[in-house]
Amino acid sequence: MTKISRKASRRGLIGGIGAIGLGSLVACSSDGDPVPSDAVTTADGGANSSESTPASASEAWDRLMEGNARWAAGESEHPGGGVALREELAGGQAPWAIVFGCVDSRVSPQYVFDTGNGDLMTVRTAGSTFDPLVAESVAYGPYALETPLVVVLGHQHCGAVTHTAHALGHTDEPDDFDQITAALTPSYETVEGTTDSEDELVEAMIRANVLYTVEQLAQAPEFEGPLANGLEIVGAYYSLDTGEVERL
Ligand SMILES: [Zn+2]
Repeated sequence: MTKISRKASRRGLIGGIGAIGLGSLVACSSDGDPVPSDAVTTADGGANSSESTPASASEAWDRLMEGNARWAAGESEHPGGGVALREELAGGQAPWAIVFGCVDSRVSPQYVFDTGNGDLMTVRTAGSTFDPLVAESVAYGPYALETPLVVVLGHQHCGAVTHTAHALGHTDEPDDFDQITAALTPSYETVEGTTDSEDELVEAMIRANVLYTVEQLAQAPEFEGPLANGLEIVGAYYSLDTGEVERL
């Protein structure tokens, strides 16, 4: 299990955007002003697709795992798809988790965790590669909306990681995705030489990249305030074979 929590007192780079006190989720209205989440009520009683909004990282993780179990079992409920909720959410949002994952078409977070409209913020790049711009996008929810949980989600058979493993093993060949390769190089170097199997190397890289990304996010200045206020950043791995997510 990877859990990052550290003490900090300084707000990060996007302070002032919906900056709020402890203990209450705040939604962001269409004009950018923070709105208390209990003002965003729906016909089924919650700001989101579920009956209540998880207020802590552990509650949010449990809700994600419940949804993933439904997805893996082929029992998805596709919550939060109604017109009434959509119209309610036009007035504000209170997402309870952020998933930072890959662009892969088979790893859509709302499917994988069987969540609905307004539940998740998602940030996706090839191989969940990371840079300062991505950090600010991931930080927006925890910082402005007090979203309590960030999940960095790697996945089986990741094409971006496979590309990088090949490119770094064949440096005499042209690399049309050198930015991705550069971003994934630390993870390659972490596992390089641990196996003779390229498939095993790729799988090890995928997991190493998740853990590396969790560490990088935790060290980004944007997260200092949210981490001090209870935010958790966790790493996870999605199996295409089983549909199941495991916490790393
Ligand atoms: Zn991928």
